[in-house]
This record gives sequence, C-alpha cells and structure tokens, in this order.
Amino acid sequence: MNAQGPKAHVVVVGGGFAGLACARALAKTNDVRITLIDKNNYHQFQPMLYQLATAAIGTDDIATSLRHSLRRRANVEVKMAEVTAADPKTRTVTTRDGKSYQGDFLVLAAGSQANFFGTAGAKENAFPLYSIQEAQQLRSRILTVFEDSDREPKLAEQGALNFVIVGGGPTGVEMAGSLADMIRLTMTREYTDLAVKHAQVYLVDHGHALLGAFSEEAHDYASRVLQKKGVKLRLGIGVKEVAPDHVLLSDGTSIQTRTVIWGGGLSASPLSASAGLPRGHGGRIDVRPDLTVDGFPGVYVLGDFANIPSPEDESLPQLGSVAQQSGAWAAKNILAEIASEPRTAFHYHDKGIMAMIGRNAAVAAVGKKRHELEGPIAFAAWIGVHALLMSGVRERVEAFINWAWDYFGRSRAIQILDRADVSRIDWDKTESEDLPSMSGQSAR
Ligand SMILES: Cc1cc2nc3c(=O)[nH]c(=O)nc-3n(C[C@H](O)[C@H](O)[C@H](O)COP(=O)(O)OP(=O)(O)OC[C@H]3O[C@@H](n4cnc5c(N)ncnc54)[C@H](O)[C@@H]3O)c2cc1C
Repeated sequence: MNAQGPKAHVVVVGGGFAGLACARALAKTNDVRITLIDKNNYHQFQPMLYQLATAAIGTDDIATSLRHSLRRRANVEVKMAEVTAADPKTRTVTTRDGKSYQGDFLVLAAGSQANFFGTAGAKENAFPLYSIQEAQQLRSRILTVFEDSDREPKLAEQGALNFVIVGGGPTGVEMAGSLADMIRLTMTREYTDLAVKHAQVYLVDHGHALLGAFSEEAHDYASRVLQKKGVKLRLGIGVKEVAPDHVLLSDGTSIQTRTVIWGGGLSASPLSASAGLPRGHGGRIDVRPDLTVDGFPGVYVLGDFANIPSPEDESLPQLGSVAQQSGAWAAKNILAEIASEPRTAFHYHDKGIMAMIGRNAAVAAVGKKRHELEGPIAFAAWIGVHALLMSGVRERVEAFINWAWDYFGRSRAIQILDRADVSRIDWDKTESEDLPSMSGQSAR
C-alpha cells in the first residue's frame, strides 16, 4: 500500500462488465480503496445466457466468482449485498440488510432488467433472460415440459411443446436458434418415446423484420436461417396477454404454450427509480459525456444503467463492450479527479454489433462502418469480440475460445433438470376454456 494510505474511497455498485472493469482499473493504483457491492457473489457473462437456458453449457462456464477475479487486488473488498437505496448527494448506498457504504466517489453500474411494457400477465407468466437465475429457471421449464410430455403424451397435444419467444432482436433471435438446435439435435436423440418432431418454436414481434439494428440482408439471412431450423415467424403481430397456458396475439389468435420467453425489451434495474438521479429512456440514468451526472459531483453511472450520449447525439447501445469500456474510462476520470486533472469525454471504440443464430450461423456488422458478415466468418468475429469481453473477467480465455468453437461445431448436451422445484407445472390450471376460438397454430 501507499505509505500515506489511499487518497480516496470508491464505492462501486454492480460487478457486471462495467463495475468490474472500473474496479479492476482503479485497483491498479494504491491511491484508492474500492468497495465493490453486488447482490450476487459472481460476475455473469450475459451474452451466453441463452446457451445456459438451452442446456448447452453449465453455470460454471459463464459465472466467475468476483472474489476470485479480484483476489490479487489488496485494495478491493467485495460485499455481497443488494443495494436498495442510493443518496447521490452524500455518495452513500444502503443495502437490504441496513448497512451503509459511503465513498468519495460513487459508481453505479446495476445493469438492466426485462421491460414487459405493461403486457397483461407477462410479468407473472413469461420467462425473462437477464440473469443466471432466470436462465436456470427457463432451462428447468424447458426440460420439465419434455419430461412431463414424455410420461403423458396428451400434454404435447395440448401445446406443452410449443415455445413462444417474444421479440425479434438479438436476444429473441439467438434464443430461437439455440432452442431450435436443442430440439432438433439433442431432444430427438434423448426422448425416443416422444414425438419431439412436433415441438414448435414461435418467434413473435410486432415489427416486420428480425434484428432491426442490422441491414436488410441481415434481416433476410436471420429469417432464412431460423425458418430452415423450423422456427415459425409471426412478424407484424404483438402479444396482448401471456396466460399460464397460452399467449394471446394482437390479431386475435392464440398459441397454447407453457413456455413464453421474453426478449421484448429492457429497462434499467429497479435501483434507478430510487437513486434520486435524472432518468431518461428505459429508466436509465442520464449522464454527461464524461460519465458523471449533472449536479452530483463524484457520482458516475455506467453501462446498461446509464444513457451514455454518443457523438451522433443518440445514446450508446446496451452492449458488453460499451459497459466494459465505460468502466475503464470512469476509473481513468476518477484518478484524474484525484490528481486534480480534468476529466475527459468517454470515447467508445465501436467493434460492431453481432448475433449468433444457432449452430454455425451468425451475422456481424463489424466496426463503425458496419461492414457486414454472415455465416462462419461472422461466427469467428463473434468469438473474437466475446473472447475480449471474457478476458476482462477470466484469465484462461483460450479455454473459452476452444469451448465456444467446439460448442458451435457439434452438439453438446447437459440435460440435467436440477431445479425441478421451481419449474413444476400445474397442468390442471388452464384458462384456455375461456377463449372464444383457438387458432390452428395452437393445437395438434
Ligand atoms: C441474453 C443477453 C444476451 C446478450 N448478448 C450480448 C452480446 O452478444 N454481446 C454484447 O456485447 N452484449 C450482449 N448483451 C448485453 C450485455 O450483456 C450488457 O450490455 C452488459 O452485461 C451490461 O453490463 P453492465 O455491467 O452495465 O450490467 P450487468 O452485466 O447487467 O451487471 C450489473 C450487475 O449489477 C448487479 N446488481 C443489479 N442490481 C443490483 C443491486 N440493487 N444491488 C447490488 N447489485 C446489483 C447485478 O447482479 C450484476 O452483476 C446481452 C444481454 C443479454 C441479457
């Protein structure tokens, strides 16, 4: 440690890409002492949640202990606690168990949650996909409907093997591709007594194209790949209601299902509502170009939790690379403030946008100019960019690259139903009798 001890205490809320990058960059100097608070004791690699949900990988592959990650940094302490309130004037946060942490600097990086946009029944009955717990619950539900239908084939006739994905953005498209692969490549081999071929994946979006942020060629490519995998696209149609046993669509039809996966949008984590800071689009905190908040000295807000202005006068997208880079930049600005030097505006090094559409299929729009790639080369770009993201967290990135390459090269199956308690279905609970007419797409 510095002979005079640290000059400042920094409290960081959230050990995702943004908070962890900030803590790691700050920890390189003995000028600061850092307290990193997260409601979990691990960092989760969100880009691969859908592979966890479709039982292609295990939890250990995408969760890294925060303590282990920071074990060589003597000036960082990790606290596992949920922050329930923040006072940005005094830079103090309070946790659910009543403890308070006050810093000379406060960094808020609490990430996102699902936004159901008030859709009836969605919060109660749909499965979002923003955390490891949510991915585990979804995986358990998918395996439960297969196990139960295997014992009782008439459940499949009642739509038990229909899966409805809401949202045609990257999360919905990646989930649809991965689930279709799981059904086609793994479940057909493992459930030999069950007519697995009748399992059906639907993707519903009120827009008319998949992967809206990409080019028209990419929209067509994603549609072609998913349809080839057997996914039924319902575009230009919204979801009006999610019930325990069906979804009601805006065209008046319904689909019988016990598994509705919500990739329909995101908003800032609940903490944003109680942080007393200016909120903009998606409930995210509006920040200045240098990642600080107007009127609140010493407060930084990062990653998915913030609306970070881009030079084009829009907000930067909710991406791992934006979060990670904003974390490192905030650390730089905090150290500048400590040294009485000026802060600088965040410069995002844009590597592009990409989506994996299941085994061996991907689309990437690389760099600021959005040079578009498809197929195996896009898949390689995805691995490269995500290996870089992973390198901010894990030392053994080669293992990730080998694993990712193997996974997309051939099917792997870990069909273990380890959370049967959370996914049990009351098959007698049904609301379908009330429906005036069920569309042909629902029943077999
Ligand atoms: C399914 C999915 C797929 C994605 N795929 C990609 C992709 O392929 N490429 C890409 O670049 N990006 C992808 N993203 C987006 C990317 O994962 C996010 O932009 C990134 O994780 C944001 O990082 P963050 O640090 O801001 O937030 P997060 O990673 O969400 O971290 C927030 C942290 O805060 C903690 N936290 C939240 N609330 C509290 C609280 N009240 N108290 C204490 N701790 C709290 C959480 O436990 C979490 O650890 C994907 C996201 C999802 C959901």
